[in-house]
Amino acid sequence: MTNEELWQAVLAQIQLKISPANFATWFKNTEIVSQKDGRVIVSTPNSFVKEWLENKYGKSIFKILYSLDEGIKEVKYEVGKSGLKILKRQFISLPESGQLEFQELEIDRQTNLNPRYTFENFIVGPFNELAQAAAFAAAKNPGQLYNPLFIYGGVGLGKTHLLQAIGNEVLKIFPQKKIKYFPSEKFTSEVVRAIRNREIENFKMKCQKIDVLILDDVQFLAGKEKTQEEFFHTFNALYEKNKQIVISSDRPPKAIPALTERLRSRFEGGMIADIGYPDYETRLAILKAKSQERKTDFPEEVLGYIASNIQRNIRELEGALNRLIAYRKLNNQPPDLETAKTLLKNLIIAPSKIVSAKKIIQAVAEFYDLKEKEILSSSRKKEIVKPRQIAMYLLRKELNSSFPFIGRRFGGKDHTTAIHAYEKIGKELEKNEQLEEELNLIRERIFSG
Ligand code: ADP
Ligand code: MG
Repeated sequence: MTNEELWQAVLAQIQLKISPANFATWFKNTEIVSQKDGRVIVSTPNSFVKEWLENKYGKSIFKILYSLDEGIKEVKYEVGKSGLKILKRQFISLPESGQLEFQELEIDRQTNLNPRYTFENFIVGPFNELAQAAAFAAAKNPGQLYNPLFIYGGVGLGKTHLLQAIGNEVLKIFPQKKIKYFPSEKFTSEVVRAIRNREIENFKMKCQKIDVLILDDVQFLAGKEKTQEEFFHTFNALYEKNKQIVISSDRPPKAIPALTERLRSRFEGGMIADIGYPDYETRLAILKAKSQERKTDFPEEVLGYIASNIQRNIRELEGALNRLIAYRKLNNQPPDLETAKTLLKNLIIAPSKIVSAKKIIQAVAEFYDLKEKEILSSSRKKEIVKPRQIAMYLLRKELNSSFPFIGRRFGGKDHTTAIHAYEKIGKELEKNEQLEEELNLIRERIFSG
């Protein structure tokens, strides 16, 4: 298939799975720019879309591509030339090479480890010190102290870095040990392939020779019972031999739906450590460390500006820094604060004071393909009640509006209606991950436009 045919086939399937609004937001102006040796490169209009595709849709996109062509092993996302051109016109010029210019080190094929992730370049703060300490101890005493070690936390907060650092550290201290790092999707696809090729016994035997087994993003095993079963056997075999097992997830074991009970209780039998959100000091320290790593520096106020505006994702901190580095290379001088603000405009969410109730209601209506009038009406139709409750929830959360105000704003409803909506959505968010994603997308709309 040509690049275009392949991507059209992917889009056709994605379109069936997500709302039209999401589809337009995330897939407009994307294309496959190359496919070679099983590696597909998807071009995106900007780094924001790039990250969303990577983090939120990467798995589905890969699955679809793989179902179309089994030779595809990897999908990479990049900010396309056209995206850069737009940036160039809008702002100050960026170098042609693009903004994300990582020193991509070779990933070892045996272990799947990337030497770039180490304990030395992992910054520790109050939000991650427990996880770091546990990981470090496990690396020094594999299989002895914390087994299994289960680390959980949100996207972009350092789970993969920490897991990989364990692997790299063990390799350094005990070069003879067999280490294997698996993103969970990869583990799943190997199980599936082994079953298909009738090599499952062989695969099992190989797994049981591992000394340190690292499984990243285990939430992706949810619902995949056959894979969980295989993992369970491997887990037990290794555990009995005092081999180290390290697992990560975006949430604690008890919150992973469709995880078989026996696997859950295995996970809970070891050490569980979480990673929270980094505080301002640590965010600044990370920016400084990363600048140093890249042999460059920036005015304190510029780094401070990033640290105070990007709060919940270390990958985004790095993204912002990359942009400044690109600017610096091109202009041979660091950007001042004003320039930095312009460069980072579309990475940094606008301060909430310019967000109004009207804007929130509009964004919610638009997101669910409803008219503003419908959201404000008293209709009891399910398709309208839920968006209305979400809008009420967001008014409270984002603007701290009072419940009587919210009631009035929604066509003169009672404040108890607003309270009920707020509590209902709050509760549902605790167990419904998809709703959380929807809310995040709505927030993007509210804050970006
Ligand atoms: P996750 O797996 O939790 O989504 P990653 O481990 O991929 O997050 O981290 C995202 C990026 O942020 C990576 O480039 C990683 O090196 C960096 N990073 C995360 N936490 C730290 C930290 N504490 N110190 C330095 N870099 C970090
Ligand atoms: Mg990760």
